[in-house]
Amino acid sequence: MSSYDVIVIGAGPGGYVSAIRCAQLGMKVAVVEGRETLGGTCLNVGCIPSKALLHATHMLHEAEHNFAEMGLKGKAPSVDWKQMISYKEKTVGQNTGGIEFLFKKNKIDWLQGWGSIPEAGKVKVGDEVHDAKNIIIASGSEASVLPGIEVDEKTVVTSTGALTLPKVPKSLVVIGAGVIGLELGSVYARLGAEVTVIEYLDAITPGMDAEIARQFQKMLTKQGLKFTLGAAVQGVEVKNNKATVSYVVRKDESEHTITADTVLVATGRKPYTTGLGIDALGVALTERGQIKTDASYATNVPGIYAIGDTIEGPMLAHKAEDEGMAVAEVIAGQKPHVNYGVIPGVIYTHPEVSNVGETEETLKAAGRAYKVGKFPFLGNARAKANFAGDGFVKLLVDAQTDRILGAHIIGPMAGDLIHEICVAMEFGAAAEDIARTCHAHPTYSEAVREAALACGDGAIHV
Ligand SMILES: Cc1cc2nc3c(=O)[nH]c(=O)nc-3n(C[C@H](O)[C@H](O)[C@H](O)COP(=O)(O)OP(=O)(O)OC[C@H]3O[C@@H](n4cnc5c(N)ncnc54)[C@H](O)[C@@H]3O)c2cc1C
Repeated sequence: MSSYDVIVIGAGPGGYVSAIRCAQLGMKVAVVEGRETLGGTCLNVGCIPSKALLHATHMLHEAEHNFAEMGLKGKAPSVDWKQMISYKEKTVGQNTGGIEFLFKKNKIDWLQGWGSIPEAGKVKVGDEVHDAKNIIIASGSEASVLPGIEVDEKTVVTSTGALTLPKVPKSLVVIGAGVIGLELGSVYARLGAEVTVIEYLDAITPGMDAEIARQFQKMLTKQGLKFTLGAAVQGVEVKNNKATVSYVVRKDESEHTITADTVLVATGRKPYTTGLGIDALGVALTERGQIKTDASYATNVPGIYAIGDTIEGPMLAHKAEDEGMAVAEVIAGQKPHVNYGVIPGVIYTHPEVSNVGETEETLKAAGRAYKVGKFPFLGNARAKANFAGDGFVKLLVDAQTDRILGAHIIGPMAGDLIHEICVAMEFGAAAEDIARTCHAHPTYSEAVREAALACGDGAIHV
């Protein structure tokens, strides 16, 4: 048995970042992790492996569609799926190994195994009970599957199974048009699978600015993905290694079926707190099963904190990381602050889609007067040269003060471009502040500046 200032349960982006920050602030820290490798969902079966497959298949798409135009002649590459999976796994290994290195560097103990909290101040791992002045729950989330659907991770898979399919399916049905479904759907569409996405709502990517969502759907349709929107999935039946999805189209209540080699259930995620013993401890939950915390990430049980996917807010790695740093600083007696109004979201398809802050819909609902500044990537020289002229940057600013309220980008490197706007928003900047900042030419960033100019006297290159 050992004694720690802090024991963190879960080594995902929330947990490992909080542990490192605690160590940096002089605390004695241990992390309990039941997986064989560190890094949580994100590094093992989430952000990192999905981005590796998105990268590899985007390269294939470029070779098939744009190389000849640039004078790069020759046969398009063929797909060695085993090698692609091994590239993905190597990438995961480099990243999870990196966290192990960081733990050693920061003298953080990794208590291997599944942990529980028998009482406040104690964490049990296997047969050992460790003392902890503070406990941080960072146990993450798991796929949330519709009732009536049985996942076997072979024919009917969650994202975890979809990242390790033994071969590329000829047909794939994706249930749910959210970020994970569209990213993995894109991967398999690029590899030649016939991909059909079924979504309950009438638009893809719920919560996203509606204009961007419509444009995004058009682009994905051009890439071969098919969409059935406004359809309620009733169940999935597996026979002879094929899965048949039955669904009802909501507007006319007509019943349909579609059969595919693989079905990916991508209908969201829910907090994972199984086995922690928080019920017995009386840790309060929200109606949606998230751990309730105050602004300092404290639960209702003294000495127990919770962060990341286990609590409210967007289920994103960088949100978990920010909370990880903040909770460590809280425990150290500091007064950190996470600005939930400036948390970017990114979809790593091609083109990428990113957003931060308000949408036109949320501004209208709040009755706020706003202006829109838009600039298409077709007017951006770099984008045109790189076959990336589809899409646009859209800034939403306060009609009176010009203060930036939100931004939405669909286009090349949208996931990187958004951060200039995030920083501007953190500083309470106006669109004019971006418009008057010199941007290097030729870069995609110029499109952001042009959208800012469009909020004032006008963009130049349209
Ligand atoms: C396919 C996919 C792609 C994604 N892509 C992105 C992306 O591109 N960008 C992004 O921001 N987010 C992405 N996400 C979401 C992101 O992975 C999560 O928001 C993030 O991992 C949450 O971090 P966390 O630290 O809260 O929990 P997790 O990363 O889920 O880590 C929790 C860890 O706790 C461990 N654990 C749980 N219970 C116990 C216990 N009792 N004892 C010991 N260990 C325990 C688990 O094994 C796990 O390793 C993606 C998710 C998926 C599934």
